[in-house]
Amino acid sequence: MSYKIGTKCVQSGYSPKNGEPRVTPIYQSTTYKYESSEQMGRLFDLEENGYFYTRLANPTNDNIAARIADLEGGVAAMLTSSGQAASFYSMFNIVSAGDHILSSPAIYGGTFNLLNVTMRKMGIDISFISPDASVEEIIAASKPNTKCVFAETLSNPALTVLDIEKFAQAAHAIGVPLIIDNTFPTPINCRPFEFGADIVIHSTTKYMDGHATSVGGVIVDSGNFDWAAHAEKYPGLCTPDDSYHGVTYTEKFGKAAYITKCTAQLMRDLGSIPSAFNSFLLGIGLETLELRVKRHCENAQKVAEYLESHPKVSWVNYPGLKSNKYYDLAKKYMPNGSSGVVAFGLKDGRDSAVKFMDSLRLAAIVTHVADARTSVLHPASTTHRQLTDEQLRECGVAPELVRFSVGIEDAEDIIADLEQALAKA
Ligand SMILES: *Cc1c(COP(=O)(O)O)cnc(C)c1O
Repeated sequence: MSYKIGTKCVQSGYSPKNGEPRVTPIYQSTTYKYESSEQMGRLFDLEENGYFYTRLANPTNDNIAARIADLEGGVAAMLTSSGQAASFYSMFNIVSAGDHILSSPAIYGGTFNLLNVTMRKMGIDISFISPDASVEEIIAASKPNTKCVFAETLSNPALTVLDIEKFAQAAHAIGVPLIIDNTFPTPINCRPFEFGADIVIHSTTKYMDGHATSVGGVIVDSGNFDWAAHAEKYPGLCTPDDSYHGVTYTEKFGKAAYITKCTAQLMRDLGSIPSAFNSFLLGIGLETLELRVKRHCENAQKVAEYLESHPKVSWVNYPGLKSNKYYDLAKKYMPNGSSGVVAFGLKDGRDSAVKFMDSLRLAAIVTHVADARTSVLHPASTTHRQLTDEQLRECGVAPELVRFSVGIEDAEDIIADLEQALAKA
């Protein structure tokens, strides 16, 4: 039985048997008991399924991961303790020193640093290719050692909409998977696997948790990429793993090969497992994801239209506005709305942006985005304050840019707050 997405938010991932707890329990246990050391040995050899140490797997985490896999339409998923860990593991699972990654530069700042600084230090080469590039240009930017293409569906904070089919076509012509960060739209608004993406990651910290309680991430595999057909590129998946007595993931685990390797190898060795308690909170957040995302988008559309008509506002960037560069792409990939995040600039620039923000009463100044409460950030005076105005423009962040994350309060109250603060700016 295949349910609609709103039903999956509530029901997927956990089906209690007779007399078992209705709600996914919090398995607050580091370890699991067995009757014989021989059986535990089989677990260590991946010969048998089961839990033995929470760093590798925990039942609460697995139930929530299964729900997210179902929401995205994937075959398997793994939770991580942050979105950053999910981004890193999703690539490092198939990329090693001497390899090359092709990425859109329109990505979250933290992911940009991960690629451009930390993964370079690990001997991994990176090229950035514009999201507006053609299929031919993307292919031309690849190298013989390219192992994956990375991009964001709706980028934070530039709100660039990705042409997923174009990137998937280019990645598959190169013979590598397309990995997509789908944090902002969530699977409610966009399911990248339906457009050819192979792997999806999220910072669950944002809309999925939805209440700003827990930092977390997830990696979901579509199961569609044929690793064995490109075995020479992916020896880690297609040749025996000496650290598991010679298991070959693609042979033993089929469509679950990628996530099994990610868990059995990367989580074992690097250990960014979320706590069962955080996963439990994430599960509660997911139950209302469809309701909340709808409301975030309705409110954001109203806020964007209000701002666009305001005389003190010089520009508004929201994919749901007809004036937006990505309006048509957004309609194709996110027909029900993009996200609750609106970016805009004030006519009087940086100083008036600060004055405006300090005058807001309902909207709180926080680094966070995408939770139930309306929040606001001025990147030029906070997250990007060490950059000059010129450097800011280079990374797509205008000095006057205000990132406004529209919550699920009543839209009239949010707009009234904007109105009084704009009057003072
Ligand atoms: C926040 C964010 C991340 C990083 O996630 P954390 O949970 O903060 O580690 C990655 N991608 C996007 C799009 C984000 O907004």
